[in-house]
Amino acid sequence: MNQLLNQDLQQMDALLQEIKDYSILFLSSIDTLPVKSATASFESFELPQKGFGGMQTMHQFRKRYEEHLAGNSGPRNWGFVTGGATIPAIAGDWLTSVFDMNASDRDTLPFKIETETIAMLRQLFGLPDAFSGAFVTGATMANFSGLAIARQWIGQRLGVDVAQEGMAALSKVRIVSCTPHSSTVKSMAMLGFGRNALVKLPTLPDREAIDIDSLTEYLKASNGEQVIIVASAGTVNTVDFDDLQAIAQLKEEYGFWLHVDAAFGAFAACVPTYRELLKGWESADSITIDAHKWLNVPYDAAMIFTRHQHLQLETFKNAGAAYLGDPEKDYKYSNYIPENSRRLRALPAWFTLVAYGAEGYEAIVNNNIDLARQLGLLISRNNSFQLLAPVRLCVVCFTLNVPDEEKQLAVDAFIQVVNDEGKVMLTPTVYKGIPAIRAAFVNWRTTAEDLTIAWEDMRQQAAALTVA
Ligand SMILES: *Cc1c(COP(=O)(O)O)cnc(C)c1O
Repeated sequence: MNQLLNQDLQQMDALLQEIKDYSILFLSSIDTLPVKSATASFESFELPQKGFGGMQTMHQFRKRYEEHLAGNSGPRNWGFVTGGATIPAIAGDWLTSVFDMNASDRDTLPFKIETETIAMLRQLFGLPDAFSGAFVTGATMANFSGLAIARQWIGQRLGVDVAQEGMAALSKVRIVSCTPHSSTVKSMAMLGFGRNALVKLPTLPDREAIDIDSLTEYLKASNGEQVIIVASAGTVNTVDFDDLQAIAQLKEEYGFWLHVDAAFGAFAACVPTYRELLKGWESADSITIDAHKWLNVPYDAAMIFTRHQHLQLETFKNAGAAYLGDPEKDYKYSNYIPENSRRLRALPAWFTLVAYGAEGYEAIVNNNIDLARQLGLLISRNNSFQLLAPVRLCVVCFTLNVPDEEKQLAVDAFIQVVNDEGKVMLTPTVYKGIPAIRAAFVNWRTTAEDLTIAWEDMRQQAAALTVA
């Protein structure tokens, strides 16, 4: 054994202790670190001829990167939809690396843990047992998987095995949606549907949800066209939900594939008062739910739920690799999703679900919604701002109160100065053609005190930018 490898093996205890101490140091200062790291420039780092060994490498890391680390998973990162990581989730993630198991085969412990975790998630979301689920790397891959299985389903209806014959054997397919996430369109590009196969139907007035009348007309006119509907259960700008119940009814009549992108909106199911937003989603063929957002596990994890295991197998099976067994007989996760070798991605979720249960998640979701509402109220009462949509769940969408032609510059300047200040992170967007700002609340650590800190800064910066 190489001398450094051996040295680290002997010093494992000290090295892991050092990492534990450093983790505690970092996590206990996360809410005082700037939320966004400044773009740093580094001198190039050469591959060492003789390595440093573990302990020295830890010091090298700290010397080089520590001062640039930011509180990305801290309580005031309201940019994108950025979840944090609960302590048990971090423990599960750490142990995932410690065990370093490949989570695929049925007769292994990782398989059991993943299956058990999926069952707990089904309970958390109130999804019927008819849905099977699997972990993938993110909602993008979950959307990709849902659309891949939909493609196989369309082929089946046309008498073509697309997984065998390829896309050329398929006639025209339309992906119908209203406010799709960019990852849906990206998945269309990756799957050979092409981005142009997207049909974007109109929203209801002042909403991001699909106009059901337009959808009905579209379906009536689309005689014989092959249709996949991607419904939104939580849009990123205003957390709007398509009327899933109405779509489910149309599905009975028109028989399309229904994929529901519920990346973070699924968590409405954790709170009885919001659960009805998801009514009808149990009729979906496939559902995307992210874990690294509102479940608060570390990157990268999401789930794909589907009702069509056999089509899923046809789509993702490893065919003709003797050493991987017979995909029809030996159940393996790797025959149902894009990834083959995969980490035990379910373990962080298992830890946090067991640690906090349904009540814990109800509390996290409620607290985040409550804080979003409070911010919405502060914004609507302040002259420098303009609230652009009611706060439906956990995202506040607003802009600055300046003339239209000055909005873009003002919004850009506001975001720059607030994010550089580092107390809170916000992301820009465009809502109904208006340059806008989003604040998304999905972190378990966010408190009323964080709201006060962030609001003080936002209010002052906006006042300075909006004086006439
Ligand atoms: C975040 C998000 C995605 C993409 O998720 P990743 O985890 O970044 O791959 C897809 N759909 C919706 C609605 C999202 O919010």
